[in-house]
Amino acid sequence: MTNENVLVSEAKAGRVMIKMTMQNQSLLSSVGPNVTISKGKISKKLETGGGGRGGGEGAKIINAWVDSMRASSPTRIKPAASPSETREEQISWIAHHPSALKMFEEIVNASKGKQIVMFLDYDGTLSPIVEDPDRAFMTNEMRATVKDVARYFPTAIVTGRCRDKVYSFVKLAGLYYAGSHGMDIKGPSTICKYHKSNQAVLFQPASEFLPMIGEVYHALLEKTKSISGAKVENNKFCVSVHFRCVNEKSWATLVEHVEIVLNKYPKLKLTQGRKVLEIRPTIKWDKGKALEFLLESLGFANSNDVFPVYIGDDRTDEDAFKVLKNRGQGFGILVSKIPKETNALYSLQEPSEVKVFLRRLVEWKRFMSLRKHTDEIPLQK
Ligand SMILES: [Mg+2]
Repeated sequence: MTNENVLVSEAKAGRVMIKMTMQNQSLLSSVGPNVTISKGKISKKLETGGGGRGGGEGAKIINAWVDSMRASSPTRIKPAASPSETREEQISWIAHHPSALKMFEEIVNASKGKQIVMFLDYDGTLSPIVEDPDRAFMTNEMRATVKDVARYFPTAIVTGRCRDKVYSFVKLAGLYYAGSHGMDIKGPSTICKYHKSNQAVLFQPASEFLPMIGEVYHALLEKTKSISGAKVENNKFCVSVHFRCVNEKSWATLVEHVEIVLNKYPKLKLTQGRKVLEIRPTIKWDKGKALEFLLESLGFANSNDVFPVYIGDDRTDEDAFKVLKNRGQGFGILVSKIPKETNALYSLQEPSEVKVFLRRLVEWKRFMSLRKHTDEIPLQK
């Protein structure tokens, strides 16, 4: 870890102090603690439209949200599609986004001579999507696999969850964790070979939003408590409203309630993931920016010798896929059983396939390391 560009210390009183060198400041030019975003520029605000809409427009936007929520349900089959159309669509999609397992040889060949850096989303990637988000546990096998991955490659978990929460699921000390969609980044808590300084890596570009997020969390708890199955989760720098256990008939009411609360907070925006609405600060920071930040922190800002691989299943992961596509380095892998528009190059169907892919990567690296070691042993004369 080249830590010159990320110097952070956690002060005793629980406050966080962040110092950045010029190199990382360029990355942060649009963020910064003093950022103010005019209401007119707030990104679509539905991204959500902002406050003060008339009744007609508000209803339209709520309907658009509900349609989007329906479309994001992985089990929903498009009513217009016949089985043969669905099958054709699947075949065409797989042709454009082939299985990372089938392309394994091509992938490792492309990475030769470069440092693989692994970025892993959590929900739906390392753990299955479950009804109760508090019970999205990963299997011990998956944990052992991720631990092995981190032995051979710098590895980061990048998630919308609160960093502490995802750590309580993953329980591995040697990883980077980027919680709250990358707004809460922390380096390994143990010394590792990629982390050459003994200073902790910690970066929180939205720290000024903490009190506001806390306020919104409590307001949403209160406002949504009448909707059966709605679950509000405080992810520290963002808030999630899970609707996977809410009857579809109540989705419009749920969105309306969320909007009523959000109308008081023009500096927050609403986005949507898999069966979840997410309330985030409007700063220009996302999983893609977090990926760039981590690559820079690892010393790969302007390097051609890096091969980042990002695996994720959700819309918010698209920001990271797009960054990799634009950099022309590494690639994204979308975890999905159904065709989705994506900037990922490859696909895997579900977390069990992610585990197989990661395991194969570890075995390949182990084999290559052994072979290199054997080649370096001088022949006995
Ligand atoms: Mg996910």
